[in-house]
Amino acid sequence: MSVTDEVLRANEAYARNFEFGQLPIPPARKLAVLACMDARLVPSQILGLKAGDAHVIRNAGGIVTEDALRSFILSHQLLGTQEFIIINHTDCGMLTFKDEDLRSRLIQQTGSSPVAPVAFHAFRDLEENVRQQVQKIKSHPWLPKSIPVRGFIYDVKTGRLKEVLEARAASLRQS
Ligand code: ZN
Repeated sequence: MSVTDEVLRANEAYARNFEFGQLPIPPARKLAVLACMDARLVPSQILGLKAGDAHVIRNAGGIVTEDALRSFILSHQLLGTQEFIIINHTDCGMLTFKDEDLRSRLIQQTGSSPVAPVAFHAFRDLEENVRQQVQKIKSHPWLPKSIPVRGFIYDVKTGRLKEVLEARAASLRQS
């Protein structure tokens, strides 16, 4: 049995006791979360969210890509979310390679150089990466400045979230 068959079997059991059939489209807690796709990070569990509570956007790295922005804008403008959270994590696979290396390897292996993806968004500095993602949302003209956008690093060893402060706030606190 393939894993797909296994999860379909699990879905049968899930649907038998289904109780979320009446939820509306807008998230009840008006929250949108962007998180890395890492399998160890389960946003609903680490944030105590139930079905219907929040939008959860995921991709490799928890990067504010064109597509993540699209989702955040729809989330706020059409579905009323009022707070955004970005979650990166320790031991992220995106820290283990360089875009150029992966790109050259794939071009070599396949003999093709496609137009997309434009970037894989690998990064070297976890905190700095979180700050950059927060900034990309805060500076977008279609997302109001009034929306709190907070960035965190999830520790895969402890299950704990640590907030990443803005660079200036962080240095003020240290001094
Ligand atoms: Zn990751």
